[in-house]
Amino acid sequence: MNLDNVVSDVSAQLEQQAGLGVQITRLNEVPEVGPTNKGLWSQIPKVTAVFADLKNSTELSATERSEVAARAYTYFIRAMAVTLERFSAKYVDIQGDGIFGLFSGPGSAFLAAACGVTMKTLVEREVSARFKKDASTDWELTAGIGIDQGTLLVRRLGLRGTKQNEVWAGKPVNMAAKLSSLAASNEMVVSDRVFGLYERASKRRRALIWSCGCNGGVQGAGLDVPIGRTICLWERELAPEDLGLDFANLHRLRSPWCVTHGPEFCEVIVTGRRPSL
Ligand SMILES: [Zn+2]
Repeated sequence: MNLDNVVSDVSAQLEQQAGLGVQITRLNEVPEVGPTNKGLWSQIPKVTAVFADLKNSTELSATERSEVAARAYTYFIRAMAVTLERFSAKYVDIQGDGIFGLFSGPGSAFLAAACGVTMKTLVEREVSARFKKDASTDWELTAGIGIDQGTLLVRRLGLRGTKQNEVWAGKPVNMAAKLSSLAASNEMVVSDRVFGLYERASKRRRALIWSCGCNGGVQGAGLDVPIGRTICLWERELAPEDLGLDFANLHRLRSPWCVTHGPEFCEVIVTGRRPSL
């Protein structure tokens, strides 16, 4: 280790990058792999990022045995990765102790929402129970989900070989991560601009906003619920000012999928079409 050598290596690298310059090309879809050509970045508009955060993970590492913490991370990350894959996220990556997926193309905000609700429902009903049983602990495994949409820039950067990864520059991933940390246990929080898409959606896709009205029963509920029997599931609140969020309001969803009507709601939100029975 020679400090002077490190400094001169960094200077040489900067000199080389300055010579290459930056070239940006536009893509419509999130690529599986970012460009590696010299100086080349891809720019993708309207990317929806879903970020899942393992709640109270600092406390987990501080108070629980290493085996318990390791099992919590394994179950959480594996379950979320499978869900993101099943919802056809174009790109999935782990960041710190959270995991995010990127969706692009028409309807990506709705695919992302259905994926996010599924993630928090699965954590609440499946992952936490299985973890508690296998780890023999009282520590509650819960997740916070955040969603934002915007333009992203991507490039594959790093050293040659395996020490390379996609760098996603732009708001959606950062904002989604911040929103996931603002979410309480098993809540989903989305930005104003994303919620606006849900409010302005087709009547069918607005199923995302309203309850199925069944309250555990079935009759006259679900997608055919009459007006007056249904309530808005989301709560709006002012975004905190100290987190660098660039929107005024955020919107919280506490409800998981209804056990009875979840599948039909999920399908209509993703496809915009009424499920065929
Ligand atoms: Zn229901």
